[in-house]
Amino acid sequence: MTEHQLEITFKEYQTLTELDKPGRALCLEAIKAMQGSHSPYSKFRVGAALRLQSGKIIHGSNQENVAYPSGLCAERVALFYWGANHADDPIEAMAVTAATDEFEISQPITSCGSCLQVLAEFEKKQNQPIEIILFCNDGPVWVMNGVDSFLPFLFFEKRLNTEVKG
Ligand SMILES: [Zn+2]
Repeated sequence: MTEHQLEITFKEYQTLTELDKPGRALCLEAIKAMQGSHSPYSKFRVGAALRLQSGKIIHGSNQENVAYPSGLCAERVALFYWGANHADDPIEAMAVTAATDEFEISQPITSCGSCLQVLAEFEKKQNQPIEIILFCNDGPVWVMNGVDSFLPFLFFEKRLNTEVKG
């Protein structure tokens, strides 16, 4: 038997103002993206913004439904929109934030496993890591370079996907 230990690395900034300019600008886009949230059930608004290599910004927000499983997270709304419309323009970074009137959010929210899995697929597809910026109002900002930091055992089988090299 061999026991293994994994380590992840991420950067923490105390406030948005410590981030570099492109990172800050993308966070402001994620805040704007929350305006599109349809969250009458959870009252938890989530916004995601993607910055593409061309400079184009894509917004996503959580879309709930009275038939609960029919809804979708902000990250996947943005990522699937990218996949359907802009897949030839690589994603450089994704910023995610959340807000609610029901309680205080004092730590960045992290993406669910399904969103991370989709992010992983698109990272492989474009063959370059996606910077992930998680933040909340007046709280710290977490920055990771690529989905591997979150999901080291992500499911991937390259023999099932001939589009991906390496
Ligand atoms: Zn999710």
